[in-house]
Amino acid sequence: MGAELKRNASRDGAPEGARRRGWLRSLWQAIDAGLRRALPGRCGFCLAPAERDRPWCAACFESLPWNLPACPGCAEPQPAGSLAGRRCGHCLTRPPLFVRSRVPLRYEDEVARLMQRFKFHASPRAGTVLLELFELGLPPGALAWPEALVPVPLHPSRARERGFDQADWLARRLAARHGLRLARAQRRRHTRSQRGLDRSERYRNLRGGFEVRGPLPSRVALLDDVMTTGATLEALAQACLAAGAREVEAWSLARTPLRVG
Ligand SMILES: [Zn+2]
Ligand SMILES: [Zn+2]
Repeated sequence: MGAELKRNASRDGAPEGARRRGWLRSLWQAIDAGLRRALPGRCGFCLAPAERDRPWCAACFESLPWNLPACPGCAEPQPAGSLAGRRCGHCLTRPPLFVRSRVPLRYEDEVARLMQRFKFHASPRAGTVLLELFELGLPPGALAWPEALVPVPLHPSRARERGFDQADWLARRLAARHGLRLARAQRRRHTRSQRGLDRSERYRNLRGGFEVRGPLPSRVALLDDVMTTGATLEALAQACLAAGAREVEAWSLARTPLRVG
């Protein structure tokens, strides 16, 4: 036992071992990413044969972390057994500026892994699977639909780091597929990154942080890939209302569970 620990410790400490493991890991990731991209007709999660006309298999679809039940106002996940359609405590005391949220998934398990492939490797296959999952929850009637989509603009520091604007990618496809207008927002000043801030700090950090060139149509939907506290979408909703929108919805693929505030 002791000898094994010692062997492991020395192996872990060797820079060559670490390099080799790092190299093997990136090779595996490249093969995995390549396989997932190159196999249409296969499930985007597990590579089993997909359902007809869908990029997923029935088993994976069933086991996805659906955001149910969730608050219809801010999409915050609610404990199992909560009444569907009931607003959460935050929304009752301080209703958000958007009329409703559509966030079908929770940012957990397979969905978190797929979102990371989409975000950090700009995987169009992952983006398409996420987009189709999101579209399943949209209302079929065209009457209540928003007329314009406003993607959350990428934070300038993120744009430098990565150069892939996932909200814009999703918004362009959704707008084209459903005949919606695409409206652009700008960040008005250099806000801090939201990482590490609690709920009220996030709201303060972003107040007045966006500008939308109007006039906007009366019904618009905001779009972001992941919704955390809703502070970003709330600040963008404020800018859309100032630019002439009357009713704003918040759309996002996945919701992170609230940890603070
Ligand atoms: Zn599957
Ligand atoms: Zn709520």
